[in-house]
Amino acid sequence: MFFVVDCDLDSYPMLLLAAQYLTYAEAVTLYQQLQAVGVDALVKSCGPPTFPFGEGMYYQLLIEETDTTSAQAVLEAFEQQRTTPTILHCPRCGAPEPAPVSRPAWWKRLFYAGTTLHKCPGCGKEFPR
Ligand SMILES: [Zn+2]
Repeated sequence: MFFVVDCDLDSYPMLLLAAQYLTYAEAVTLYQQLQAVGVDALVKSCGPPTFPFGEGMYYQLLIEETDTTSAQAVLEAFEQQRTTPTILHCPRCGAPEPAPVSRPAWWKRLFYAGTTLHKCPGCGKEFPR
């Protein structure tokens, strides 16, 4: 597992901020992905000082400056995945990107209230999301 260090960045002048505002789960995932390419990241837990919910809400990942080349592909893929909304898949056949049903029947609107009804272009299955 990894070490979570305190907020004193001055102790680590050679480290670069690789990612920030990560949840704990994201920090673990990214840490493991970096390990896989041979990069030892340092995980830092520290909310902004004014953050009302106290420290430790967010995690930052720091890497050595010399590791930036190895880490770059992993970091870019990770960032892209974070900013891309998860693509919906049909629960029956697994086809990606089922289209929202624009005007469902009134009883379906009632039944699926609060969700958006989607229809799979492949198998025709309707499901709420
Ligand atoms: Zn389907």
